Amino acid sequence: MKWALVGASTIAKDYVIAAIRAQAGHHVHSLVSGSAERGAAYAAENDIPNSGTDLDAALADSEVGAVYISTTNEKHFPQAMAAIEAGKHVLCEKPLAMTLEDAVTMVRAAEAAGVTFGTNHHLRCSGSHRAIRALVADGRIGRVLSMRIFHAVHLPPHLQGWRINDAGAGGGVIPDITVHDADVTRFILGEDPLNVAALMAASGMGEGVEDSAMSVWSMPSGAMVMTHESFTHPFAGSGLEVHGSEGSIFASGVMTQQPVGEIELVTSSGREPISFSKHDLYTQGLADFAAAIRGEGQPAATGWDGVKSLAVAHAVRASAGSGRREDVDYGGAP
Ligand code: NDP
Repeated sequence: MKWALVGASTIAKDYVIAAIRAQAGHHVHSLVSGSAERGAAYAAENDIPNSGTDLDAALADSEVGAVYISTTNEKHFPQAMAAIEAGKHVLCEKPLAMTLEDAVTMVRAAEAAGVTFGTNHHLRCSGSHRAIRALVADGRIGRVLSMRIFHAVHLPPHLQGWRINDAGAGGGVIPDITVHDADVTRFILGEDPLNVAALMAASGMGEGVEDSAMSVWSMPSGAMVMTHESFTHPFAGSGLEVHGSEGSIFASGVMTQQPVGEIELVTSSGREPISFSKHDLYTQGLADFAAAIRGEGQPAATGWDGVKSLAVAHAVRASAGSGRREDVDYGGAP
């Protein structure tokens, strides 16, 4: 399987190129960048044999079977639609699109074309999140009462750019991190938030976009979810907790790109450390995607998962803007 990368991005360079190459028979064949010069330098640095600025030409290459899109957020929709139209399998970065309508259109187009479409939500690929999900599903904490996600980080200088100053490119902590927390919540609890009440702020980094958000989500089961996302917290650390009628799960350091962190289950029997697989998150995501292309299962996060995480993020921003609780509109997603 030969891949075209759309976007000379940090995430591809740091994680996804290696994750593609870790799959037997998968190769990174070409790169499309908005700049011929930057694309050529990036391709040379990352041993990618072909680079250019013409997306249509890259998609016309019959050797290419799959496309990974990791440009800034406003470009995902037209690029994904072009790739789907060309009959390629598509792994698209989150958030899938700027609007829910566009995200739904992409996913429906992929279904109609019969290509595999995935959203690169990495956290549900981690051993830690899969272990937490299994604890909940196995009833180890009884009925889930609440969940808290601590995802306030310090955005490193090399990633600040469009994320902190360009709303048109999809900047802001809500499209960047709240989408992940929405996906994590849905993955671990197995249900979709009904409505949200949120606040957002610019706390020192955001220039015209929010750099911090806090929200509370109500779930169909009656459970409540509290999340905190930020770009401005150097020492907060990350984690999540799930509290149930028979126990609590405490996971620290698990809202990250690395296979790290610690999980503890607390019940009436005492405190129990929970071990989990320390595999690479992105390699797992690509393994699941490659299997889906072969007809074995689905991508770790499907297109509809990407639609739903975007829907929750939009409700959070709407609530923070209106000052009211907002229902989540999933745009007809199944
Ligand atoms: P980058 O800022 O590194 O790259 C985004 C785009 O910026 C590239 O496509 C590139 O355009 C352009 N660019 C890169 N370097 C320069 C430069 N020196 N000068 C001008 N333009 C430049 O973004 P990220 O890799 O951080 O994020 C890309 C996407 O991936 C986003 O959608 C983000 O939400 C998502 N993401 C997902 C993560 C996950 O774990 N799932 C983690 C991080 C990001 P061009 O292609 O035209 O060359």
